Amino acid sequence: MNIHEYQAKAVLKEFGVPVSRGRSVFTAQEAEAAARELGGPLFVVKSQIHAGGRGKGKFKEASAGDKGGVRLAKSVEEVGRFAKEMLGNTLVTVQTGPAGKQVNRLYVEDGSAIAREHYLSMLVDRETSRVAFVVSTEGGMDIEKVAHETPEKIVSFSVDPATGVMSYHGRRVAKVLGLTGDLAKQAERLVAQLYAAFLAKDMSLLEINPLIITKENRLICLDAKISFDDNALYRHADIMTLRDTSEEDAKEIEASKHDLSYVALDGTIGCMVNGAGLAMATMDIIKLYGEEPANFLDVGGGATKEKVSAAFKIITADPKVKGILVNIFGGIMKCDIIAEGVIAAVKEVGLKVPLVVRLEGTNVELGKAILDKSGLNVISADDLDDAARKIVDAVRKLA
Ligand code: GDP
Ligand code: MN
Repeated sequence: MNIHEYQAKAVLKEFGVPVSRGRSVFTAQEAEAAARELGGPLFVVKSQIHAGGRGKGKFKEASAGDKGGVRLAKSVEEVGRFAKEMLGNTLVTVQTGPAGKQVNRLYVEDGSAIAREHYLSMLVDRETSRVAFVVSTEGGMDIEKVAHETPEKIVSFSVDPATGVMSYHGRRVAKVLGLTGDLAKQAERLVAQLYAAFLAKDMSLLEINPLIITKENRLICLDAKISFDDNALYRHADIMTLRDTSEEDAKEIEASKHDLSYVALDGTIGCMVNGAGLAMATMDIIKLYGEEPANFLDVGGGATKEKVSAAFKIITADPKVKGILVNIFGGIMKCDIIAEGVIAAVKEVGLKVPLVVRLEGTNVELGKAILDKSGLNVISADDLDDAARKIVDAVRKLA
């Protein structure tokens, strides 16, 4: 689960992390009131959407000007004007995709005088099974570009969970960023605070870009992105209240209600698969044959007929889907359950695109018989390769 910048900063503040003072607002009036309260002389008006690259983003509407989704304002009036320009309009950034995202909320902050912009992030490193820090002097801009063009400018290290974060981790960050004296001490403190926050809240990603040094020699987290581990959300009631479903894909919200692992993608072939590994393999083979998957969907091991039916409906409701591939290896999951779920869903919502089904494993004969008897126009496939080829052919014939 992702949250907004203003929420991320509030979470970090609980752990003592230095962030600017700010207020989240919904209207230009509230924005002006917030600016008056903050006092100035410099303000930042920041679009709150679940996507980065706001500063360099562009609004679709001409009325919003083309100065991006993060703007510096020098007066209360200017804050109000920027708020009017941004609110209700659609911001397009490298992370939103071409459709962009509507800005419904702004964060008005104390403006900082920046001396330097650095980068710091934390994530769970699957290779070492540890929490890793990623640090670079090259903050503010596109870190992916830095990683690509000058990888030596990005330093990464992990923390041994047995010792937890130690002062040498902080000194390492200070060294990478070239900080000495009091700034090095601030870095040491910050690293400990961020690590504590990361563990306590079960984060999977924490990205501070930029981490700035102000002209007054203060280290401040000027931007914050946090992703939480969905599997641990049940023990963080406070974090769960921060969820903003208006920022999420409607299909993904519906899927999460049914406890399905679903990720919407941009392709044309809808996939219903059991097991994350098989789902990945299915997506790969669709690409191998030259088409793109419309989603990742793992119905899980012990799915019920209702769950399968819900999954199928989510796939068919996606207008991008030009064909559906059901690929089930029945181990715990029984093939007849899948067949019944698919039929139940089709009865309700119909089937307007070709459907290829590959079933294997427990009760496979029963499953195939149920599909045969249903009178559904199902193209059956023998193995994964056959299935991928058949759905790609069927989709191309339609195009
Ligand atoms: P992002 O573009 O979505 O990553 O949004 P950020 O919060 O990172 O802001 C983008 C850029 O705006 C930063 O890299 C800074 O250069 C600038 N910026 C943000 N806040 C301030 C501020 O308080 N003072 C100044 N001078 N610049 C700021
Ligand atoms: Mn940023």
